[in-house]
Amino acid sequence: MGTYGRYPLALVRGKGVWVIDSDGRRYLDAVAGIAVCTLGHSDPVLRRALCRQLGKLQHVSNLYRIPEQEALAQAICQRSGADAVFFCNSGAEANEAAIKLARKHGHTVRSIDRPLILTAQASFHGRTLAAVTATGQPKYHQGFEPMVEGFRYFPYNDTAAFEALLAECEAEGPRVAAVLLEPIQGEGGVIPGDPAFFRRVRELCDHHQILLIFDEVQIGVGRSGQWWGHQRLGVEPDAFTMAKGLGGGIPIGALAVKSAVDHFRPGDHASTFGGNPFVCRAALTVIAEIERRRLLPHVQAMERLLVDQLLELAGRHPGRIEEVRGWGLLQGVVLSEAGPSAAEVVKAAMAEGLLLVPAGPRVVRLVPPLVIRPRHLRKLIKRLEKALISVC
Ligand SMILES: *Cc1c(COP(=O)(O)O)cnc(C)c1O
Repeated sequence: MGTYGRYPLALVRGKGVWVIDSDGRRYLDAVAGIAVCTLGHSDPVLRRALCRQLGKLQHVSNLYRIPEQEALAQAICQRSGADAVFFCNSGAEANEAAIKLARKHGHTVRSIDRPLILTAQASFHGRTLAAVTATGQPKYHQGFEPMVEGFRYFPYNDTAAFEALLAECEAEGPRVAAVLLEPIQGEGGVIPGDPAFFRRVRELCDHHQILLIFDEVQIGVGRSGQWWGHQRLGVEPDAFTMAKGLGGGIPIGALAVKSAVDHFRPGDHASTFGGNPFVCRAALTVIAEIERRRLLPHVQAMERLLVDQLLELAGRHPGRIEEVRGWGLLQGVVLSEAGPSAAEVVKAAMAEGLLLVPAGPRVVRLVPPLVIRPRHLRKLIKRLEKALISVC
């Protein structure tokens, strides 16, 4: 169906940070399936691990124990403050699980009849009905009303506005079950969370026994240069979701929770495909390779190089780039109001052999594979500069 406005480009092969179209043209891929292909395309280690798994077992029901799933849950918990994990197939589905967990928390811990969940304006949590309602962008709601009830919105990083909304919702007794936030807003324009704001939200959630849930679907699994975006904030959530980068291109999502808020009991929630041996093997391999190749410090080094080079680029073209912001290998190039739009720059970059993706009308987003090297960054900057010149 026509759910996507697609570029006239058919990608047929890939290797590392490169993809090749049906005419044999090569593109440097700073999209990576939108922050999905953690190890790049057709990674030999991931490929071998998946081929071996295909020779063993692809899928069994969650009616049985799945050793790969148990190992993956343990790997996620060992690298975070979580104690238990629910597996599903996408970011939206992980957030749906989080929303159900939040409501159960509201009912059982705070004795709320009709619990509310507070989310941020300009957020993005996915396209299924509850996840899109959680998404604080009216353009994604339009045409799909009535939305799911029980969501309220406040401006991201705005402590006073958050305190005011919370006070209003709690005026006549407990109403709020959870606060759901991205540590850094991706889709909404690459806006890093403010640690002071997040610390205050954490404090208020603790005070009221409100769940603090982080949506780590885009920044999680190493993209920030830490395992999780919340480690950059220095604020721990009660639960967090992940998906995009977890399987390195194999669809998998997850909700990780602390034992204190592990409210699901048998029969409460399920997903037929969730956490099958094949997808868990992919995620286990991605996590092992991030460590074996020391990709967390590598991402930190690439962040410094990329940001420095983007700032130099901005300096060479005064008035075209307003700001460079982001964490690790999720970076946003904010274009000036007077110049071309992000969509125009993305199109021009494609003609120069560089794949980019907008994050809103004025922000060009860079989310390359975590294995990108300095020589690729230099090529990326050269091609982006040519694209900027060609549209101005
Ligand atoms: C992409 C994204 C989602 C939705 O993930 P899907 O796998 O497309 O359902 C949710 N939250 C954030 C922060 C995302 O970036």
